[in-house]
Amino acid sequence: MALARLEDYREVIGGAELEELKQLARHLGGVRMAHVNSTSVGGGVAEILHRMVPLLRELDIRARWDVIKGGDDFFNVTKLFHNALHGKAETITDDMYQVFLDYNRRNAQELDFGGQDCVFIHDPQPICLIDKREQGRGCWVWRCHIDISAPHAGLWEFLRRYVERYDGAIISSPGFAQQLAVPQYLIPPSIDPLADKNRELPDDFIAGVLDKYAIDRSRPIVTQISRFDRFKDPLGVVEAFHAVRRKIDCQLVLAGGGATDDPEGLLVLEEVKQRAGADPDIHILHLPPGADLEINALVRGSTVIVQNSLKEGFGLTVSEAMWKSKAVISRPVGGITQQVIHDATGLLVHSTEGLAFAIRSLLANPDTAAHLGRNARQFVRHNFLITRHLRRYLLVMLALRNPTQQVIEL
Ligand code: UDP
Repeated sequence: MALARLEDYREVIGGAELEELKQLARHLGGVRMAHVNSTSVGGGVAEILHRMVPLLRELDIRARWDVIKGGDDFFNVTKLFHNALHGKAETITDDMYQVFLDYNRRNAQELDFGGQDCVFIHDPQPICLIDKREQGRGCWVWRCHIDISAPHAGLWEFLRRYVERYDGAIISSPGFAQQLAVPQYLIPPSIDPLADKNRELPDDFIAGVLDKYAIDRSRPIVTQISRFDRFKDPLGVVEAFHAVRRKIDCQLVLAGGGATDDPEGLLVLEEVKQRAGADPDIHILHLPPGADLEINALVRGSTVIVQNSLKEGFGLTVSEAMWKSKAVISRPVGGITQQVIHDATGLLVHSTEGLAFAIRSLLANPDTAAHLGRNARQFVRHNFLITRHLRRYLLVMLALRNPTQQVIEL
């Protein structure tokens, strides 16, 4: 489906919020803004930029998006950096730093930021592009999307020297704040309510998808949408489901993709299949990339959504389900704690037994699930939609461009 226009969001967020966005943007009209990240497809950052850049342009911000280039050697290093920043014990060698610096230098030679008023560098991969900053011109922001609450100490020291040359850093969750000499802004990621993954769907389409996968529409459906990744603990979901099913007749859907090019993903998928055995009520769906409408339908057709992650950056799947008025059960990790407020916008659990208990209680009390789902949708509407994200980016730009202005007149 074609990308929605800014005006299309009026029906979702209301006229007042849309007007406010336009008024804020008037203070920035004609400003040149560059975003830089390391991939144009796949992953939440690219997904958000695909939406964000056209919307900025509609607001008369001259936004552009550059993607840095790298070979396998670079991306092996940046993946290892990513894991190390997430707290995994990794050994980082001088050669790795050298590869990282060499690719950044090469990209810096190809990219031209002359005349840019605002440059947003996303995540660590292109962080050294700050070397291109022209003296005294434009504001530069490091936009960090990952959990840096317990980073590899040496790597963080290396990166921090770059971060502190920016005018500010944006983090996704309060727990990710670091001691830095530059201001930090808290801006969570967002979902697009009008994208295929989130837009309203006709009932017969939802029914068609459930039928396609032989999921029984007459019995409760418990679903987790996630890559097959140990950090998402799908085995724990299967175990909890077994416990629930001893008391309540229901089905489990574990749907995810992204395993084909990831040997560990395939391994986890196999483990999950083994644990599930031949149970016809456990549906393990290995979805191809871009199955957005099907994912949307699976969530909408489910009774309860689980996101059993043991570690999470933000967990977009949680907001995606909450937006569909679903009661979500999660663990209190990473950015999930910003989305799920226990007993208000969903349920938080601390163990597999707790997960089973929470699933049973929501299946037995559909009114409670509906109440949590209604709250969840409102919470996402006010906090995690792309339009709110856009507004926060505009505010950061205004604050950095006018550091002495205390009040912004609308
Ligand atoms: N997703 C998808 N297909 C799948 C599984 C997940 O498109 O088979 C999407 C999901 O809807 C969400 C994103 O991938 O938009 C996953 O983001 P999240 O922050 O939840 O977790 P990550 O995979 O980045 O750890």
